[in-house]
Amino acid sequence: MVFGWLIRFLITVVLLRLAWKFLAGLAQGATTRPQVPPTKAVSLVRDPACGTYIDRSRAITLRHKGETHHFCSEDCRTGFQQGQRATAKGA
Ligand SMILES: [Zn+2]
Repeated sequence: MVFGWLIRFLITVVLLRLAWKFLAGLAQGATTRPQVPPTKAVSLVRDPACGTYIDRSRAITLRHKGETHHFCSEDCRTGFQQGQRATAKGA
């Protein structure tokens, strides 16, 4: 019966070591990850009218209720403005 206890103890030790390695890997991944992204330094913004993502520097902007909206084209901007007016009227 002593061996049974010993084997259980060894299994527990191995499992604890595996769990520790796993958690350490997670912590390392969480800390090192934010340093990777700056390879693609283009900030994308979403066009609320058609839903496409566009380069912020090339987007057509509209200030609305203190918020800046970004659009891919004039059509989307006017469409959005008309939509805002329609919802304002409806409410
Ligand atoms: Zn658009």
